[in-house]
Amino acid sequence: MDFVPHVIDGKEVDSVSGAQFDSVDPWTRRPWTAVALGDAEDVSRAVAAARRAFDEGPWPRMGYAERGASLHRLADLMIEHRDELALADTRDMGKPISDSAGKDVPRAASNFRFFADHARLATGDALPMDSGHHAYTRFEPAGVVAAIAPWNFPLMLETWKIAPALAWGNTVVLKPAEDTPVSATLLARLALEAGLPPGVLNVVHGYGPDSAGAALTSDRRVDRITFTGESGTGRAIAAAAAAHLTPVSLELGGKGANIVFADADLDVAVSWSIQAIFANAGQVCLAGSRLFVERTVYEEFLERFVAAAEALVLGDPKDPATQVGPLASQEHFDKVRSFVDQVDSDGGQIRTGGLGDGWAVRPTVVTDAPLKSRLWQEEIFGPVLVVAPFDTEDEAVGAANDTPYGLNAMLFSENLSRAHRVAASLRAGTVWANCFFIRDLRAPFGGVGDSGVGREGGRFSQEFFTEPKAVVMAIAP
Ligand code: NAD
Repeated sequence: MDFVPHVIDGKEVDSVSGAQFDSVDPWTRRPWTAVALGDAEDVSRAVAAARRAFDEGPWPRMGYAERGASLHRLADLMIEHRDELALADTRDMGKPISDSAGKDVPRAASNFRFFADHARLATGDALPMDSGHHAYTRFEPAGVVAAIAPWNFPLMLETWKIAPALAWGNTVVLKPAEDTPVSATLLARLALEAGLPPGVLNVVHGYGPDSAGAALTSDRRVDRITFTGESGTGRAIAAAAAAHLTPVSLELGGKGANIVFADADLDVAVSWSIQAIFANAGQVCLAGSRLFVERTVYEEFLERFVAAAEALVLGDPKDPATQVGPLASQEHFDKVRSFVDQVDSDGGQIRTGGLGDGWAVRPTVVTDAPLKSRLWQEEIFGPVLVVAPFDTEDEAVGAANDTPYGLNAMLFSENLSRAHRVAASLRAGTVWANCFFIRDLRAPFGGVGDSGVGREGGRFSQEFFTEPKAVVMAIAP
């Protein structure tokens, strides 16, 4: 694609101002496509289109089956265009093509299938009342949804928001991350082909502060804001939303703890722990980036973990053999590098890894860093793991919970009681026991503390993207 336009009211359009920006391929470190740079005027047009499509158009008034059929058609088209969509994310942010084509695009398509079916099959409450009345619930679409997405799983996280919003009859204005604009425009194009009416899914490109993102979150015609990104950005968006009391769903940063007990199956623990920190070059909100290993197996585990980390294939993300690509941008590489550069002065040791070529960071394992250091406390969002030994279950849980974040945590143990006990004590929105990243889209997804506000997934998405209404009827005696 030479030029990536906005998609507003069913048309591919340039910015009103004519301004553009480049999307840079992090492997070549050169611009690979020009993108329309939206501002408040473009956002205003997109919101007006979404408003019109909601207030006057057929989409919110259709039956669930008819809407669902369009979303299933969209999912089919995404699979047909899998290579093009996958290459867009890979070139935009350096994700290995085996991940974008093999995992992200299929997952993005299945988001539409799941939420189309979930909305069609959902039930409400019927509440017989003693007073001679009868109450029931209706779930009515909320209106215009503003969706703001990050760059780490572009298509997958955009569809995680758009799919439930659309399935419940809302219209959407999506602002993709500035680093990963291309797949969003391709998706909007496919949505039109699938038969979604103009204005139902709009895409405006641009930056966050003082740009398209800020304009979108402060528009009073927006009824819901769903955001995934950094915790600091989440605060700015919550503040903007407060002006109009717009409900927000915030999926924010993380610093996931991973606890490996001596009674774990170490093969299983090594394999999942490697994925938990090095998949997507560690640019995963759910990364298991703080590893605690019981002292009696610490050295053995570390040795096996380091060997597995060193076996990962780093390289051109377009090569199907590549497992770890470069970081997504120069700015992000500089941020991750600042953590790697600090290991020595913090008293830590790099067991393996360090900087690679270009914007790549090799799978890096840091030991001996103090638990209060920046390495342990802040989200690095790169392939950099900090590890420490522990002696007791209480000590491990206490250290795992010692963070302002609470998105997810993991534990490895073959002791069933311990697994349940520890899962209950970890302060996190999701706990994985003896696995990682396995998702059921009906389950609540979100974080506590600095990791977010609200939950999405299944009926949690239903509640956020609808206005639940109670209808109370008198029954004549
Ligand atoms: P970011 O917060 O910098 O940007 C996310 C989006 O917000 C972008 O589209 C950006 O343009 C926009 N934005 C920035 N400032 C804005 C403002 N003031 N108003 C409106 N929009 C604004 O995040 P990122 O760097 O793209 O993504 C990485 C972060 O996302 C990490 O912290 C990661 O943990 C988090 N994340 C969380 C989840 C989750 O589900 N909890 C999933 C993926 C990523």
